[in-house]
This record gives sequence, C-alpha cells and structure tokens, in this order.
Amino acid sequence: MMERAVTEISGVGPKMAENISELGIKTVDDLINTFPSRYEHFEVLNIRELVHDQNATLEGVVLAEAVVTFFGKKKNRLTVPIQVEDVVVKVVMFNRAFAKKQLIPNQTVTVTGKWDQHRQQITASHYKVGKTEDEPSIQPVYLLRQVIGSGSFKKLVSQAFKQFGDTFEETIPSFYKERYKLLDRKSALLAIHFPSDVKQLKQAKRRLIYEELLMYQLKMQTMRQYHKTQSAGHAKQINSEKVNAFIENLPFHLTDAQKKAWGEIRSDLISKHRMHRLLQGDVGSGKTAVAAIALYSVITVQKQGAIMVPTEILAEQHAQSFDNLFGDLVNIALLTGSVKGKKRKQILERIQNGEIDLVVGTHALIQNDVHFSDLGLVIVDEQHRFGVNQRKVLREKAMDPDVLFMTATPIPRTLAITSYGDMDMSIINQMPQGRKPVETYWVKESVLPRILKFIEKEVQHNHQAYVIAPLIEESDKLDIQNAVDLYQHLEIEMPDSTSIGLLHGRLTNQEKEEMMHQFAENQLNVLVATTVVEVGVNVPNATVMVIYDAERFGLSQLHQLRGRVGRGDAQSYCILIADPKGEVGKRRMQIMTETSDGFILAEEDLKLRGPGDFFGKKQSGLPDFQLADPAIDYRTLETARQDAVDIISSDLLTEDLEYRYLNHFINKTLKEQLKGFD
Ligand code: ADP
Ligand code: MG
Repeated sequence: MMERAVTEISGVGPKMAENISELGIKTVDDLINTFPSRYEHFEVLNIRELVHDQNATLEGVVLAEAVVTFFGKKKNRLTVPIQVEDVVVKVVMFNRAFAKKQLIPNQTVTVTGKWDQHRQQITASHYKVGKTEDEPSIQPVYLLRQVIGSGSFKKLVSQAFKQFGDTFEETIPSFYKERYKLLDRKSALLAIHFPSDVKQLKQAKRRLIYEELLMYQLKMQTMRQYHKTQSAGHAKQINSEKVNAFIENLPFHLTDAQKKAWGEIRSDLISKHRMHRLLQGDVGSGKTAVAAIALYSVITVQKQGAIMVPTEILAEQHAQSFDNLFGDLVNIALLTGSVKGKKRKQILERIQNGEIDLVVGTHALIQNDVHFSDLGLVIVDEQHRFGVNQRKVLREKAMDPDVLFMTATPIPRTLAITSYGDMDMSIINQMPQGRKPVETYWVKESVLPRILKFIEKEVQHNHQAYVIAPLIEESDKLDIQNAVDLYQHLEIEMPDSTSIGLLHGRLTNQEKEEMMHQFAENQLNVLVATTVVEVGVNVPNATVMVIYDAERFGLSQLHQLRGRVGRGDAQSYCILIADPKGEVGKRRMQIMTETSDGFILAEEDLKLRGPGDFFGKKQSGLPDFQLADPAIDYRTLETARQDAVDIISSDLLTEDLEYRYLNHFINKTLKEQLKGFD
C-alpha cells in the first residue's frame, strides 16, 4: 500500500500539514479515514409542515434589504423578510452583519434555524445564498478541534478524492462484497464524506462497518493463531494414570460440562501450542475443581503451577481448598502482599529452586523478583479484575507457560468475541447435580421486619445469613445505606442469642480474615458486609443473602453475590431490597427473580446498560471503533468473525490477488505482535 503524505494533495503546504497532523492525519489515507462524527440534515420542508420551536430549513426569495442593528460591543442582529411559498417570513440572524451584502432583494436563499410559529419567524444559524439543489441536504460535521475550518477540511477531502480516488485500493474480496451486497470501497468512502441522501449514507456505513469489524476480527484471529503456533515445543507429557486416579478420588463425579472443559484444557496442555484459554462458568459450577485437575496434571510431570486471584482473602481460601484437594501430593505456597521480609524471601527461594509446586497469590505473584524453576501452567481467576497489562506480564513470565483464564462473570457472547476473540473458550454451563437454585425475591425496604423474622427462623435451623450494604460510610450524595447503621439496627432488632458480625473495607486484612473465619466457622449467625464478600468466599452453611439497594448493582454483580449462598444442600434464598424508579431498574430486579442462569443475566445486563457498564469501560477491552458499535452491530460482528476464521485459513489469501490487502494486513499484525514479545 502506498503511503502518501498529505502534502501531496495540491494546496496542502507544510503549515497546513502540521495543523492537521494534530488530528492524527499524516497521510492521504488518514485523511480519507477521518469520517464525519455526525451529519446535519437540511431538508427543505413545506412551510405548513413546520413545527413551532423546532429546527427547520426554508428556501425563499429576499423581499427587501436586510436591516442590521448593533448592540453591545460586538453584537448585532440582522433581520430580512423573505417570501416562502405564499408566506412572508422574517429571518433573524445574530452577529452576521456581513451577510447583509449577500442578502439582496430577489436573491434566493436557504436558511436553517429555529422556527417560531406565532411570529412566522426563523432564527437562523445557517444561511446559504442560492437554491438548496445546489447542495446536498445532508451536511457532514467533522470533529476538527479548531485545527482547521470545516469548509477547508471538506475541500481537502474533496481534492484528495480528485487526485487519488482511483488509487484507493479495495480491501474486501468480491466474494464478500457480493454476498453482503456491499458498496465498493471508493464509493463507500465518497458517500460517507459527501452523502447525497440518507439511503446512500446508510449503505456506505454498512460497508465500512463490516470492513472495520472484519479487520478487527482478522487481527484477533491472527493473534489467536500466533498464540497457538509460537513457542512450539511446549507440549507437555501428562501422566494420565495419576491424573485419572486424582479425578477418581475427588469427593464427587465431574459433571459432563466439567469433563468437556478438562478435555479441552488437556488437549491444549499436550499439544505443542501454547494454551490461551478462557474458562467461563457460573459461581459454583466447579471451575476450581477443573483448575485443580489441570494444575495437578502439570505438577505430576515436575512442572510448577501458579494461580493468581484478585484479593488476599480469595488467595487464602484458594490455597486452603487446594490444600484440601491435594493433601500431601503438592507443595503449596501462598504469595500475597502481606507475605513480607524474610518469609517472602524464603518462599521466593523455594519457588526458584523448584521445591514449591504450586503458588497461590495475588498480583504479588507477578513482581519482578519472582522467578520460577519451571513454570508450566498459570491460572488467572476472576480474570476481568486484572488489567490487560497484568495479564500480559504473567503470560510473558519466563518459560512461556500455558495460561488459563477463569471467570465466574459470564461474558455475553457479543463482548466475548470482541474482547476475547484471541482466546479459546471453554464454558461450564451446567451445575453439579442436586444443587437447588436459590429462590430470589424482590421487596421494598418496608418489609425489613419480616425479613429479620425470616433470618431468625433460618438461624434457628442453624443456618447463616449475609446482609449486604453497598458502602461503609454515610454519603449524602449517594444516600447509600450505611453498613454500620445497619449492623446496629440488626443488633437492636434481633434476639440477643443471634450473633452478628460486621465486615467492611475499612478493617485491616487481619480483621477481615478473622471476621470471615468466624463466619465460616459458624460462630457468627449473621454477617453484615459491604461487597468485600463478593468474590469467592465459600461458606456452604449460609442460606440467606439479603442485598440492600440492589438496584445500584449490576446484574452480574448481584448474581455473584447470590452465588455466595446455595453452596450447601439446604434450600437458599436471596432477597433483593430495591425501589428502582425507572422501568429499566424494575426490569432488572424482575429478571433476577426469574433466572439463575448467569449467561442470561449477562446478556440482559449488556442489553439494558450497554457494554461500558458491564465491566467498566476500561476493563471491557473493547476497542474504540470508528463507526461500529458492538452492542448494535453484533450480528455484523459475528459474521465478520466467521469470515475472518475462513479467510485466515484459506489458500486464497496468498493465491488470489483480491486478498492481497488482507494478506498484507495479517502480516503486519503478526509483525507487530512479534515485536511486542521481544
Ligand atoms: P467455582 O470455582 O466454579 O465457583 P468450585 O469449583 O469452587 O466452583 O465448586 C463449588 C463447590 O462445588 C465446591 O464445594 C466443590 O467441591 C463442589 N463441586 C465441584 N464440582 C462438583 C461436582 N461435579 N459435583 C458435586 N460438587 C462439585
Ligand atoms: Mg471459584
């Protein structure tokens, strides 16, 4: 592809080039690919169709000279009568005294502005001398940050088309263009900058959105391919006898979904490809069990494993449950921020000399001074809580380990294929047998006394309850329930025999741990907590989850919280206290009571709140598309993904000239990727 500097466009000198470089425009290609951010529709309407106080465009003939009155220092007001059809309309413009010269009697003008029905007057923000036919009714608006005037910019684009339009390369092979009835590239580009009507603009967008998404998916597929093929020679032996014995000895039979996931992970491990896989499954679906099998399988061939989790409490619980599962079979070390000094040094030594088989930790695991003897498998739990960089550091830690990401927050398919298109995916979509779904109710706060009675009844059956409040401090702004107040309220309202604990973010780690420990040991009947309990903590005896101000949480987060109960044999309950004002809020609470399927909730959350809210913008990993919107264009996204998969494995890529551009693009992506790993 030719890279032409903008200075090759006639009329563009060094000064202009410098100015527009501030918009990121250096080449002709950049210029052409700077699309309008929106369009203004100037459609001339019949004067009787105009609506008071709305924007309108009128075409008329100037009846008399314009009158300008000056006021203030620099302000002025121009009025001119024009004849529109059989009506005389008064045009008013502010600070356009200069227009007086153009608005001479008998001249045809087109004005756009706000229509005043009562005064038969229009306050114009745009005017143009001449008839509307001279100009298309859709005007592009560019974001130019005052670097260049919009008129000059349009001229530039137009000039670029004149000079170089014939050299714009087609990027999409005719097969796909015909299949989806897409405009060719040049027509689409021309129409996005200079649309003649709405229909044409739509077609242009459709073509360019497909192109944008196809390129994105090609990139993802290229990276996926790359993860698979680079670092060949990492095939691991698996001692099937030992691993099968381990599985046999688990206190339960694997579900079919767990077996399938383990099968997929296993084939990654023994293949010479490097694993780069995401394991999704609802809370309690048995991901940790699958992770344990995977870890055990590399440890039995004298490699090390590491598992990284987002919080210390979770690291401690994980270390504990792995310890229970593995017993003496595996040497486990816990590495978190609170492991310091001499102890940390000792652990680091034992990791480096290979004495430790499995390290469970927080991001303390990816510090520079942590060196493994032979790291074979890394597991990242609750992976979306880690930044992309942290994930990358871990992946790149010596030895090119296989990497398995896990998440209990099911990711809507649309987001999964955009954010994680470069990963393989395993899904555990089945709960272990005998698990009773948590009964979920949505109530208003006024029924609190009844809720407390209900908790008391459960406590009498020796069960436990969580009561979740969103924040620990009074916040006037947010009017959020105060966990401390709530705790005191329960202390007063509940019988003395009921012991209540309070867990919040202000406690030290040790205090939190102590509190969780007491709850886990059933020394506390009720735990009032902020969302610090959200992730991972496992107390099978807890059967009630009460969530205050539930409307403030995302559905996936509520689902996570709900997953803290229903972990044992007894029937469990989730009570959402919420008084949402809007329809969306009501709908969200309703859905919570209707389904216990995290994948459905995730899709609903995405639909109701948009991708930004799903993980938080930063973590969603969504690229900033210029035209495409994954939440709206998800069908195209899926189509593009399938096409990318086909294209990347096709011989046509190197054999057919129509695929030349795509082939070049893929090679470029690959080169960038290789550079990233130097
Ligand atoms: P996750 O990590 O997906 O939240 P876990 O692996 O922690 O789920 O499993 C949740 C609970 O279910 C644990 O107590 C675990 O021992 C148990 N469990 C896991 N797999 C099964 C199974 N196939 N049958 C019965 N219980 C299981
Ligand atoms: Mg888990």
